[in-house]
This record gives sequence, C-alpha cells and structure tokens, in this order.
Amino acid sequence: MTTVGADDARYHELVARGFNGRFTGAPDQVHVVHSAAQVAQVLTAAVRAGKRVGVRSGGHCFENIADHRDVKVLIDTSPMRAVHFDREHRAFAVEPAATLADVYRTLYYDHGVTLPAGVCPQVGAGGHVAGGGYGPLTRRDGTVVDHLYGVEVVVVDASGQAKVVTATREPDDPQRELWWAHTGGGGGNFGIVTRYLFRSPGATRRSEPEALLPKPPTRLRTTFVTWAWADLDLARFTRIVRNYSRWFEAHHADPRYGSLYSTLHLNTHAIGAVSMEIRFDGGRPDAVDLIDRFVAAVNEGSGLTPAIEYQDDLWLQATLGARFDTGGYDRHKSKSAYLRRTWTAERIAIVHRHLTDPSFEGWGAVDLYSYGGRANAVPPAATALPQRDSILKAWFSVTWMDPATDDLHLRWIRELYRDVFGDTGGVPVPNADHDGCYINYPDTDVADPAWNTSGVPWTTLYYKDNYPRLQRVKAAWDPRDVFHHPLSVRLP
Ligand SMILES: Cc1cc2nc3c(=O)[nH]c(=O)nc-3n(C[C@H](O)[C@H](O)[C@H](O)COP(=O)(O)OP(=O)(O)OC[C@H]3O[C@@H](n4cnc5c(N)ncnc54)[C@H](O)[C@@H]3O)c2cc1C
Repeated sequence: MTTVGADDARYHELVARGFNGRFTGAPDQVHVVHSAAQVAQVLTAAVRAGKRVGVRSGGHCFENIADHRDVKVLIDTSPMRAVHFDREHRAFAVEPAATLADVYRTLYYDHGVTLPAGVCPQVGAGGHVAGGGYGPLTRRDGTVVDHLYGVEVVVVDASGQAKVVTATREPDDPQRELWWAHTGGGGGNFGIVTRYLFRSPGATRRSEPEALLPKPPTRLRTTFVTWAWADLDLARFTRIVRNYSRWFEAHHADPRYGSLYSTLHLNTHAIGAVSMEIRFDGGRPDAVDLIDRFVAAVNEGSGLTPAIEYQDDLWLQATLGARFDTGGYDRHKSKSAYLRRTWTAERIAIVHRHLTDPSFEGWGAVDLYSYGGRANAVPPAATALPQRDSILKAWFSVTWMDPATDDLHLRWIRELYRDVFGDTGGVPVPNADHDGCYINYPDTDVADPAWNTSGVPWTTLYYKDNYPRLQRVKAAWDPRDVFHHPLSVRLP
C-alpha cells in the first residue's frame, strides 16, 4: 500500500484526478490500495481515528463526493483494475478501478462476451456499477446490474472493525441484501467494493464462460445526423424532439430495433448544431434500411435536409474509440431525468429558450439517451434501480474552463432545469411524464430546497419505493454511517 501525505508531490495528482475540475479534495492522506485486505486495514484505522473516509476508483463522478472537504482519508483503488474469469463463482470478476475499456477489451478478447455498460471508455467500474450503469447495449441486454451476480465489499461493523464480505444474488445467500443494494443503490454508501462478479441471470454454474454474458454485435454501423442551429426555428426544433421521443414511445420494445442506441444532443446555440448519434448492429442485413427509416422518422415534417455521415466499424474498435467531447473544458455540472413519455410542446419550448438564450454563450446540452427495451423487462424492486418503464433518459450538462465563470454556468443549468420541470417544483417528480433522476449523474441541487420546491425528497427522486429497503441495508451493514456523503443513503 502506498500512503501519500500533503508533502508528497504525488498528493496533488491524486487529489486532483477526478473528472470534475471544480472539486479538489484536501484529505490528510491518500491510500493507494492493491487489495481488499489493505482496504480493511485503512478503514479500521480511519474509524478508530474518527476520520471521514472517501473512495475513488475511476474518478468519473460529477459531484463533490470523494473530493468533499470533510473527507480526511481518501482510499484510491487505482491499482485494482483486473478483469478475469473467477472459477470459484463461475463469474467474471471486475476490480473497481478497471475502466470500461479494460472491461470491454478483456471480456471480448478472452471470451467473446461483454456487458451493457456505459459509452465512455474511461469511466471506472467502481462507481458505475453500484449506480446502475447503462449504455449502448442496454436496450438489447438491460442495465449492467441486471448481470451482477455478486459483489466483494469491505464493510465496517458496529464495533468499528472492517471485514471483507462476498454477497451474491443466490436466494439462500444470507448476505443477499448487500448484493441487492449494489444493483443501483449508488457508490460510497455501504462499504468499499473490491470486486464485482458478473453472470447473466439465465446462466448457471455449469455454463461455459462464453455463455455467461451477452455477446456483442460483431460490427457497428454508426450514423451522425446534424441540424445546424442556423436552420432551426422553434417549430422545427419542436418537431424533431417530438418525433424522436414519439419514436421511442412506439418502438421501445420493437425487437427489430433492440440493438438501436441513440442520443439526441440538444446543444446550446454556441455549439452551432443539434445532432444525433446512432449505433446499430452492423451485422444485420437490414441495418442500413432500419437506420434510414429511423432517421427519416425523426426528421419527418422538419422541412430540413440534415447532414448525415455513416461509419462501419468492428464493434470493439468503435466502442473503445468513443470519445466524450467536453470541448477541452474541465469544470462541469450535470443533472438528469427519466422520461416516461414525450415532452409537451410547452416543455420543449422552455428547453429551446434556454439553449438559444442570447446572453449565454457556453457549452451546454440536454442529451436524450435511448432507453427502454430490456431495461424495462425487470421489475422495479428486483434491483435497487427502480426506473423500469422509461423511454428516454435526459442528461443536462454544462462544461467550462474559467473558475471566474462558475456562477454564470451554474445559474444557466439550474434555471434551465428548474424551468423544464417548473410544473413539479423544479425536479422530475415521478408521475405520468417523468420518473425521477439517475444516481450515477448525482446532483446535490435536488437535495436543496432552493432548487427542489416539489416537497418530494431527493431520495424518492433517485430511489423511489426502494429507498426504505436501502436504508435497512444501511443499518445492517454500515451501522456507524462510515460511508457518508452529501447524497448517501441515510440511516433509518
Ligand atoms: C464522461 C462521462 C461519461 C459517462 N457516461 C456514462 C454512461 O454512458 N452510462 C452511465 O451509466 N453512466 C455514465 N457516466 C456516469 C458514471 O457511471 C458515474 O460517474 C460513475 O459513478 C463513475 O464511476 P467511477 O468509478 O469512474 O467514479 P468515481 O469518481 O471513482 O466514483 C463515483 C462514486 O462512486 C463511489 N465509489 C467509487 N469507487 C467505489 C468503490 N470501490 N466502492 C464503493 N463506492 C465507490 C465514489 O465515492 C463516488 O461516490 C458518465 C460519466 C462521465 C464523467
């Protein structure tokens, strides 16, 4: 184990390695750990000393959690990034700092299988899996946690002693609730995960490794569609957004389109265009026809001829080559919403007004990600991820560079979000239109009464009816509330 204090040059790298440049921690020490035993050692000592603990794996958190000023002991799992077949559990083991690129590459090269995880190859498994995890194959194969068989986690008991526990989804496993809490309960809540174990629900201990997880398509057909802002007035913008959402309402369970993944990027006018990215199983003989029909349905009635580019790639190369474009900026704010049905014209007009606000020249977006399909085939309480009948997931984001403009950018995204959900107190309260928020896009504003005037607690927005059960797991497995942060599950 490497322990790094503030007088060590490496300290500054380690406290500033998170994705969001707005947050830099100030722990007394950073412990760079290689094993569950080392995690247990650090945790026991930290609890004895009464110091708040934080944990970082892939470092892609949007919010001020691992870097929070209250964190005095930061556990950094960076060296723990192995991905391998575990004979004991007959499942694939993934360590927390494995990036999604590590996961995709190793699972595919070694066994020809994959997980329906996120689109950004640099995201780490540590937070991504605990928070639910979705991505390009989710409509075909479900969310990541739908394939989670077990979890190895270091917890702290009532006496302050840390211990390593392996919890699985086996019905007779006495630790099953701890597994369940890691199927969407969110990172940094119950203990420190040192290994995830994956095996799809239909697979058994007798299955060969190649049959334990989904197989990806061999090829990907990627399509980029662009509508220049110069050609878009409110009517055309509304038409495209409504066409897109209505398509998902009508086709969310259409088997021909099971492998369709798309994002409608509703960008600020400073970015110059609204765009759509589509990925589809390029091995299907009817791929070109099906994509063309989807694009035509989205563009229908807009009166525009968008620019369209196609690309045919091998699946893994395209997946690893994906880049998340922040325009080179490192300061961020994100918010989220699940959509159960198409937004009204009034709501789309509010989005349009903020995206085209002449006084805001920043780099922001409302991205509408494809959802539904197999993600909706799982009952809401079967995993801790309760949103199981949405058609789209919205990601509100803004990114910038200059700290002096923090207020300007934060105000823009907060007012956009407040106004879009103005009929329900500034947040996407679960109702016929929306279904709350996604904990992997954490946003402390929803816990702030200044921005959430709905009277619905933030815990309901993220966890809905699953929250009391998560609290019971918290009481059983983290009775001292060692794993505490601004959006952590609270003791009952
Ligand atoms: C560019 C970008 C693209 C993204 N794309 C997607 C996407 O396509 N799909 C999607 O679902 N999400 C996506 N996300 C969100 C992503 O899933 C979350 O940010 C995720 O929590 C990141 O995990 P991490 O380990 O990289 O981050 P970290 O910052 O290391 O951790 C995130 C949270 O989990 C906790 N945590 C970390 N390690 C552990 C551990 N070992 N045990 C317990 N708790 C831990 C942390 O304390 C923190 O609260 C994206 C994020 C970014 C920045």
